[in-house]
Amino acid sequence: MVGERCGVFGAKCFDGSDAFVNLYWGLVAQNHRGHESYGFLTHSEGLRRYVDLGLVPRIERQEFLRWNILLPGNVGIAHVRYGTSGHRDVYAHLKDAQPIVVSRGKEKLGLAYNGNLVNIGWLKEFVAKRNGRLKTTSDTELLSRYLLDNLDRGIIDSVKLCMEDVEGAFSVVGLRSSGEFFAFRDPLGMRPLCLGQSRDGSIKAVSSETVGLDINDFQVLSEVEPGEALIFTKDGMERQRLVRNGGRAFCGFEFSYFARPDSMINGKYVYRVREEFGRNLGRRYQDVVRDSDLIISIPETADDAAYGLHEETGLRWERTLRRHRFVTHRAFILEVDERTSTIDRKINVPDGGLKGKRAIVVEDSIVRGDTTRTTVKKLREAGAEKVYLFVTFPRITHPCFYGIDMATFTELIGFYFNEEGIAKEIGADAVCYQPLEDFVKATGMRKEDLCMACTTGSYPTELAQRIADKVRSTVDKSDRSRVYERPNLEV
Ligand code: SF4
Repeated sequence: MVGERCGVFGAKCFDGSDAFVNLYWGLVAQNHRGHESYGFLTHSEGLRRYVDLGLVPRIERQEFLRWNILLPGNVGIAHVRYGTSGHRDVYAHLKDAQPIVVSRGKEKLGLAYNGNLVNIGWLKEFVAKRNGRLKTTSDTELLSRYLLDNLDRGIIDSVKLCMEDVEGAFSVVGLRSSGEFFAFRDPLGMRPLCLGQSRDGSIKAVSSETVGLDINDFQVLSEVEPGEALIFTKDGMERQRLVRNGGRAFCGFEFSYFARPDSMINGKYVYRVREEFGRNLGRRYQDVVRDSDLIISIPETADDAAYGLHEETGLRWERTLRRHRFVTHRAFILEVDERTSTIDRKINVPDGGLKGKRAIVVEDSIVRGDTTRTTVKKLREAGAEKVYLFVTFPRITHPCFYGIDMATFTELIGFYFNEEGIAKEIGADAVCYQPLEDFVKATGMRKEDLCMACTTGSYPTELAQRIADKVRSTVDKSDRSRVYERPNLEV
């Protein structure tokens, strides 16, 4: 099965204007959340869908008319995707592209989601019993079918059932053949989802990140609360907190890596949080700072932390590492063999200014270690005498079952090695992680409201915990091949 690590957007234009333009810009702003495929689904006398592979294309102003004809209607949902595993051929990617549409009798349901389902084995069995063979390899089809199978109770009850029965992270936008648009977030609010509106209130929109609203010149109204559902009909919007278990577990990794720096999470801009990460690292590792000449950041997710570190320490921030701007592939989410060559192509290290220098390299995270290893090697080749790694996200020691592409112990360098071991493995002089307590403080969130399971081994949901405990006890640490331990084991 394929987990999804994606971005969603949905809009309802109560003034009757075409929704496509808002969907389009909402996706463009969130293309960093997935570049494998993109898709739109609108409603006007029935559902109209368009999906394709790659980045959201450039659409010129005069072309919008054609797109509005292709995808008409004043309501729609949209999605950018990359699957975290599964089939890699083009056909499968296209088949799994979202939004997907499932049907039962006259009812059709379109869905786009960001997250990953943990009790996938149970869900698959349950859905297959009622529906037979599934068309795609995506969690989204399971989720959609589960919703559709219970839709005779009404959308609210069907969503509530889904929240109660399905374990995992899911931020969802959906569209029915009646034109009803809805959105909901899992009971722990693990993936981001926010609500906004146009300045005159005539258009309401739901977006994974606030940047999807900003680009449309929409105001951010609120986050969609954990366990909350929003239903948009022609008469307006209704919101209901369907499951309130008192908990929250927002993914901490969004702060270090995934979210755009100019997105706002929990009332704070991500770039501000990242600057604080940098300041924290400077305060924590003063000895290393004293032994360094300059700061370098891995563009672009570590840039804000590097700025914070520069502010805190007064060390020069040397902007020598540069991205080749149109190599847009995210190395972290590629297949192993693609990854190294992409890193090589992606980051340029001109050799001026580094000869004989002791450099602190600010990095957002270390997952498998291969991106960092390549960077360290390039810096050495450029003449750096010492390379210290300052990492904003604490050491990743456990897999993520909630949609970030690190679902096995065996691929995590931090599972095998401590800081010294990792430094040796990647060729750095030292690896300095931001401690968990500093990380949490900088986010402005309470520790109990964040998921940090991949760094602590303490999972916010029950089955995920059981899977992690079981798999950890069986992993052979001497075998570093990538055994795919999917969370559908018997536990
Ligand atoms: S396990 Fe890690 S990556 Fe996954 S949701 Fe939790 S914090 Fe995010």
